[in-house]
Amino acid sequence: MEKVKLLGMNPAELKEVALEAGLPAFAGKQLAQWLYGRKVRSIEEMTNISKAGREKLSEKYEVGVIEPSEVFESSDGTRKYLFPVTCALSKSPVAPVESSMVEAVMIPDDDRRTLCVSSQAGCKMGCKFCMTGRQGFHGHLSAADILSQFLAVDESAELSNAVFMGMGEPLDNYDNVMRAIEVLTADWGFAWSPKRITLSTIGVMPQLGRFLQEGRCHLAVSLHDPLPEERESIMPVQKTFPVEKVLSEIRKYDFSGQRRVSFEYTMFRGFNDDKRHADALVRLLKGIPCRVNLIRFHKIPDFPYETSPEPVMEMFRDRLSAAGITCTIRASRGEDIFAACGLLAGRHDKQ
Ligand code: SF4
Repeated sequence: MEKVKLLGMNPAELKEVALEAGLPAFAGKQLAQWLYGRKVRSIEEMTNISKAGREKLSEKYEVGVIEPSEVFESSDGTRKYLFPVTCALSKSPVAPVESSMVEAVMIPDDDRRTLCVSSQAGCKMGCKFCMTGRQGFHGHLSAADILSQFLAVDESAELSNAVFMGMGEPLDNYDNVMRAIEVLTADWGFAWSPKRITLSTIGVMPQLGRFLQEGRCHLAVSLHDPLPEERESIMPVQKTFPVEKVLSEIRKYDFSGQRRVSFEYTMFRGFNDDKRHADALVRLLKGIPCRVNLIRFHKIPDFPYETSPEPVMEMFRDRLSAAGITCTIRASRGEDIFAACGLLAGRHDKQ
């Protein structure tokens, strides 16, 4: 019988687990401390719980850390981890499960260690420029499988930031992603500041509104083109959730304080990179205190565009900056290990 994973459970749920195993109620707090404070990988390591108690717990439960099946290291220090997962195709408790691979990418930058985590195996959203989108949808990651990525990487103890920018659309797996974020930020959990976490979305409603209301971490929106028809041709989501609606949702919230919103804009040569696009983007984002990140594109098979040349990216950046929008050209990381934006596919045969 497959064991139940303790990772992702909150103190109230861990108390129930403790009572069920015949342990005192306070053992629930001890479990949380072992899981999230000490970050143990096995119940056996929880040495202030009696041996009999640990044996009883182990009959039904496990911590839930998945060891990586492969690790790739880029010449720039970026490291990509591949994890085998078994996950549900829908949120129904009787949904069929599928085995798949997901990826997490650790990006070092001076004294920062950022983990780019996956929230789903594959993705339903079908963005044309994305290898994850190409492979279709293989299941929602549980909160345990999301948190496991933080614990299983070699740099676990050094992680300073997290971005939900790996495989999948996090808002399409809302409950599990928010549960993982709760563990990351709760005092009884990893106790990270929400300012260390950024959730990246292409703008899925109504979950975006819920996230803005219920969440406290930063938001990044994949915009990529300000012109509706063009955007729809590379991002089918535009048809269901037009970017204008996404932005009117964002306008309801105050981003002038600690919480930040940024917009990701991948530059495709001759497609979305001329002055017309820059000016349309300025008009679209008017009044939103935000940053725009221009991203170099890594060419993928069967997609007609390549990245914009450097002078074009600089022209675009300068035009946005002149209109008062903070804009940066994002350094490209991990391209040689297929770890850069849009290249995650959870496969190891592409090396
Ligand atoms: Fe899914 Fe993001 Fe890729 Fe679009 S870009 S297909 S939302 S993983």
